[in-house]
Amino acid sequence: MAEKAAKKTKTPRVAMPEQDPKVRARNFLEVPTGYTMKMAQEEASRCLQCRKPGCVQGCPVGVDIPGFIDLIAHGDMTGAIRNLWTKNALPAVCGRVCPQEIQCEGKCIVGRKGEPVAIGNLERFCADYEREHGTGELPPRPNPQARKLPLSEPAHPA
Ligand code: SF4
Repeated sequence: MAEKAAKKTKTPRVAMPEQDPKVRARNFLEVPTGYTMKMAQEEASRCLQCRKPGCVQGCPVGVDIPGFIDLIAHGDMTGAIRNLWTKNALPAVCGRVCPQEIQCEGKCIVGRKGEPVAIGNLERFCADYEREHGTGELPPRPNPQARKLPLSEPAHPA
């Protein structure tokens, strides 16, 4: 088990492909082009499925990171996006713009000895996969009964 974990820690992170500089200089498309399914599964297989996942503690909305990553590793993309939606309705955005290096990825145990699992890239992949291959289903709407705090109200009154 420890041997398996050490091997995963040494496995390099799967780099996301990017447009060639000469091509990207002539268009306004995103520079990173996204993982393929094979790349996503390879990256997902680097996750140690920690029992006490630091990555979840580092995520402001508490996404079940090992859960959705495990679903990707097993090719269950329908399950992976729905798992994400339980905590985050905007994985395409968060996978692109969240500062993962100081949040989830900054707390990933694999990052202690190697490169952290590319959680943001995997989140983005789930959302893009759903957009391209999904049923068009939208994330569930938030519970209207849930209490909303006005911005001026402190979450933890002194
Ligand atoms: S801390 Fe890293 S290795 Fe552990 S569950 Fe989270 S992503 Fe996977």
